[in-house]
Amino acid sequence: MSADQPSREPQASPSNVRRHWDDTSASARRALSDAGRWIDARGWCPATGGNFSSRLPSLRRDQSDLVETQPESVIQRCVVTASGRHKGALTESDYLEVDLFGAPLVSGLTVRPSAETLVHVMLYRLSPEIGAILHTHSIPNTVLSLIEPTSRLTIEGFEMQKSLSGQQDHTTPTTLEIFDNTQDMEALAREVKARWALREGLRWGLLVRGHGVYVWGRDIDEARRHLEGVEFLLSCMLELERLGASHPDIESQVTPQSCLTALLAVLCERWKF
Ligand SMILES: [Zn+2]
Repeated sequence: MSADQPSREPQASPSNVRRHWDDTSASARRALSDAGRWIDARGWCPATGGNFSSRLPSLRRDQSDLVETQPESVIQRCVVTASGRHKGALTESDYLEVDLFGAPLVSGLTVRPSAETLVHVMLYRLSPEIGAILHTHSIPNTVLSLIEPTSRLTIEGFEMQKSLSGQQDHTTPTTLEIFDNTQDMEALAREVKARWALREGLRWGLLVRGHGVYVWGRDIDEARRHLEGVEFLLSCMLELERLGASHPDIESQVTPQSCLTALLAVLCERWKF
């Protein structure tokens, strides 16, 4: 990367006016911005919530002038959304690159990484198979993670489970671990690491109680497919909750009687019987 290329970073300080991201980073930023518009259209990231990231090829310091702050000769890195950006209007400048401990690779920028970057980089460290992560705050993932009394949401009986890589049928349970919400992201990242070891790895995603979901894939396309599948499944689970059928086995749980009971409850509430 030559230093005389035009800057694409309007937030950079005058002493740092140069393009500081390479073509792989630019491509990832565009793909994540596309994902942001798609996610925003579905209402899954309201009010600047959520954050996205993509793993980038490692950099050798002696082959690049892109990295200013890291002394290591080989730097594993990802690109992550900056804090406070609306996910429906992301541009290439609304990201920054960090190493896999969350430290920015370029100093002097006015953009800051999202606080939840520490969860992203922990997941990248835990599995080289994870290439992209999408964190959203939808109504189904927020509500279901809040009302589930255990630390694990189990989903079964849905054909759409097969949208998740490696899920062969609808009868094998799909599980999403639930973590208690906290503003201490270092603590949450440590808990993710501990649960990952306890469960011998987590698949597809995880929930944070009353907060949202992290979904990942080998690349951005797979992460998008997994997110769409997970959000669909969680929407179905929420519908079952509304019907009073907490278990997703529809044939045995959603009976005419249970539907009638739910309907009567709604009518009683509405008309104060
Ligand atoms: Zn969040």
